[in-house]
Amino acid sequence: MEDKKKSGDSLWNSVVQQVKMLLPTEIERNRMDRYFPLMHLPRLEDNCYVIEVGEQIQVEMFAKLYSQLILEALQSGGQNVDEVRFIVSKDITTQQQQPAKYRPAPTTPQRGMPSTMPMHENYTFENFVKGPSNSFAHAAATAVAKGPGRTSYNPLFIYGGTGLGKTHLMEAIGHYVLDRHPEMSVCYITSETFLNEYVNALQNDAMHAFRERYRKVDLLLLDDVQFIAGKQQIQEEFFNTFNSLLGLRKQVVMTSDVAPKDLKGCEERLTGRFQQGMVVEIESPSYETRLAILKSKALAGQHLIPDDILKFIAENIRSHVRAIEGALNRVVTFVDLNHDIPLTLDIAQHLLKDSIEEEKTIKDLTVDEIMRTVALAYGVKMEEILSKERTQTLVTPRQVAMFLSCKLTTRSLQEIGRSFGKTHATVYHGAQTIQKRIDVESELKKTVENITSQLGRNPSELTK
Ligand code: ADP
Ligand code: MG
Repeated sequence: MEDKKKSGDSLWNSVVQQVKMLLPTEIERNRMDRYFPLMHLPRLEDNCYVIEVGEQIQVEMFAKLYSQLILEALQSGGQNVDEVRFIVSKDITTQQQQPAKYRPAPTTPQRGMPSTMPMHENYTFENFVKGPSNSFAHAAATAVAKGPGRTSYNPLFIYGGTGLGKTHLMEAIGHYVLDRHPEMSVCYITSETFLNEYVNALQNDAMHAFRERYRKVDLLLLDDVQFIAGKQQIQEEFFNTFNSLLGLRKQVVMTSDVAPKDLKGCEERLTGRFQQGMVVEIESPSYETRLAILKSKALAGQHLIPDDILKFIAENIRSHVRAIEGALNRVVTFVDLNHDIPLTLDIAQHLLKDSIEEEKTIKDLTVDEIMRTVALAYGVKMEEILSKERTQTLVTPRQVAMFLSCKLTTRSLQEIGRSFGKTHATVYHGAQTIQKRIDVESELKKTVENITSQLGRNPSELTK
């Protein structure tokens, strides 16, 4: 009887094994591998086996697919259970919901070597889609991976907003180097963990060992350095570790959500040092890159998602790649569950309603952004666009900005007028003028489409 009341973890493990045996086909077993990691904290409460998941849709889906099987597995294992219940837990973040595979710690832990965190198996260069928003960062990362410590890109500092692929690129360098030089010591670590280790070393009087450990690294991948900003004490140590690694021509790569100069609460000599190698930014992907990423992810997962659905996602989910992946997963889940219902645009629209609403609030373009991008494209100043001057070199960019503001924002003519310091009638006239001109002037049409792409939007929105 004793061993029948197994502890939570081992009970869950045996449930997983048994359910797998009960599934007749490879497809179903693969699907299970994707879904079971989304289940959390399974536990027995009286005669009910409770499993936490992140979203209501999963409750419905998993109940339909697995409740009976899990119940059978539990009962055949001698557990006194008469119900399996899935519940939504707010504590489960989307991050946890992504089942991920990790490469085992890059170096076998050796005494005297720094601890290194596992890297995602699929964060490789092969799986990274290049586009204008990340091509500099990609080129620099490739150069560093091919010759760690031997380029002038040392340190390599990659920055950009969240979910844009910084960690992916950084780990790609790690995989590349480890695949070709298994003898090299590669350390991937988040700044938070680095900080914790430092504090531990301080408390245990082990600073000497700490320093020695890090100095043995050939390639140091330090993720999210914005974390050390404002933490004075560690900056000193960081600076020292850093200098000695660079002095030994060891390669250092860092990521951050802001540029070195914008790292608040970071000493200047440190940010200065960060900029001595190569600083590259990853920007939000354009429509074309978003679509390419979606196609590559769909292909990698062997999901047959129609093109118009992928386009729909790329058009509507613009903020960052992680959100794009989330949207794709939602659609894939639907397809997995409903083999008999063809996936239509209507269904996709319904499935992604919430994410699209969320996108609107975070990524509605401002008239200001549009003016700035247009000014840059035409090589004029923002003030000139806003001025009253009526030379043709200024009238065209001004009217293009008005046209794009009408097409790409949800703002009214009055509001747009206020931003330009003009009446709504002037904005209307300006937008109409450009509309007519692009119908006949292919050069102008191309320029306007390019600016639209630069703003992260799909040029096809202009024809709506
Ligand atoms: P960050 O570190 O900038 O917050 P991540 O590197 O964690 O972002 O990327 C978030 C997700 O988006 C990951 O799953 C990553 O694989 C994916 N991703 C980001 N950029 C690309 C890209 N250019 N090609 C393919 N996948 C990408
Ligand atoms: Mg990251």
